[in-house]
Amino acid sequence: MAELSGAPREACGIFAVWNHPEPVGLVLRGLYALQHRGQESAGVAVRTPAGELAVERGMGLVGEALPPERLARLRALAPDAALGHVRYSTSGASRLENAQPFLVRLHQGASALAHNGELVNAGRLRRALERRGSIFRSESDSEVIAHLVAARPEPDLGAAFLEALHMLQGAFALALLGPSALWAVRDPYGIRPLTLGRLGPAVVVASESCALDAVGAEPLGEVRPGEAVEIGPGGLRRLRYARPQEGDREALCLFELIYLARPDTLLAGGDVHSFRKRSGRLLAREAPAAADVVVGVPDSSLSAASGYAEALGLPYEMGLVRNRYVGRTFIEPEEAGRDDRVRLKLNAVRPVVAGRRVALVDDSLVRGTTARQIVDLLRAAGAAEVHLRIASPPFRFPCRYGIDASKRGELFAAGRTREAMRAELGVESLAFLSLEGLLEAAGESASRAGAGGSRRFCTACFRGDYPVPLLDDEEAAEPGSALPLPPLRLEEVS
Ligand code: SF4
Repeated sequence: MAELSGAPREACGIFAVWNHPEPVGLVLRGLYALQHRGQESAGVAVRTPAGELAVERGMGLVGEALPPERLARLRALAPDAALGHVRYSTSGASRLENAQPFLVRLHQGASALAHNGELVNAGRLRRALERRGSIFRSESDSEVIAHLVAARPEPDLGAAFLEALHMLQGAFALALLGPSALWAVRDPYGIRPLTLGRLGPAVVVASESCALDAVGAEPLGEVRPGEAVEIGPGGLRRLRYARPQEGDREALCLFELIYLARPDTLLAGGDVHSFRKRSGRLLAREAPAAADVVVGVPDSSLSAASGYAEALGLPYEMGLVRNRYVGRTFIEPEEAGRDDRVRLKLNAVRPVVAGRRVALVDDSLVRGTTARQIVDLLRAAGAAEVHLRIASPPFRFPCRYGIDASKRGELFAAGRTREAMRAELGVESLAFLSLEGLLEAAGESASRAGAGGSRRFCTACFRGDYPVPLLDDEEAAEPGSALPLPPLRLEEVS
């Protein structure tokens, strides 16, 4: 439920193309496919065959932020590569100066940077850079990365960028467009996704594979955790810039699967729709409801709801309808309270729910505000009973890796028992999918996940087991305590 206030929201989406005669149009199509990942701002940077860079950025949805006249200015440069970004802020306010890509003039050359994720040592790095004389124009983590590159002595942009990566801690999927190459990078745990594709002689980089489909690109596989891919005139060069984490631990954000990614995206070895449907089936096994009809919360919960209904042999019906035409800008906080916002976006289908026991399936329960209002909508439409089923475990710990759920006090499940949550939501019953069930849906053995924690996925918001220490938080509690890791050596892998 990305558009409603009760769910976490995604940080950003990245789409880039190298070696294409019309890269601006291609990036635009890619950004439209990634619009669900960020609706606050959008931007496109281009690179010309002569190595010149230019950028256009704006606030709002892709169509608002990048009107035809802005795109025409970029097209007039006859570029052959472009990098695009859609943003939802989890660090830094919603302002144009925080929009991406960032175009910076470094001593190594001009470059445009786009970032998805959140650094856990951004505050510490920023203070260190400011002490060395760096002047920041924005509050975004991404500008910290640009300044780190600028502070490196290496004259070559790619070499300086790779060295700067060693200073970063946290979640980052990055793309850097320079005068002579495009770089695509994932953090050592692979918390945020990034994938590669090929379109004839062009190479494409995207946050999700659904954007590759949108431009007709053939998938080339994910950028691996700890990998930097250089795409240039010589083709594709893959470098492992970080050693594999202990025990080959990876930590893809489980929320990408639960609700952030589009259902038609391929992630973690499968498609997101099938994962969600499996999670619904397992939820039915763990917590069957005595209901007459199953209703999913549009849109991200529909796959799980259909799996839940199938497993129980119950009818699955459209009991809630979403209004897709209420724009983001229309619903400003001062214009409408949270209740009104939900009512503007959702309505119950009275004949489906009136007089019936409804099993309401949602993908997650984060702040609890939206769920409460949806329950009210169903009651007002005559539902006899509401049994709320959540296709993920209680979200009890804040996320510091790029999801807008960073304050523990905002988390509904933190400090509440299940019975207290049920009573506050006003439902007849409430049940969550277990973490073991969720990991089983994602293809990881339940026993392994239950014993020592997942080896493939981040589960920190459910268990508090943060794969990357929260360095800025630790430093705030104890100044000087959190030192970045020393640089590691580069190692060419293919
Ligand atoms: S803490 Fe939760 S939301 Fe944040 S990256 Fe980990 S799994 Fe995703």
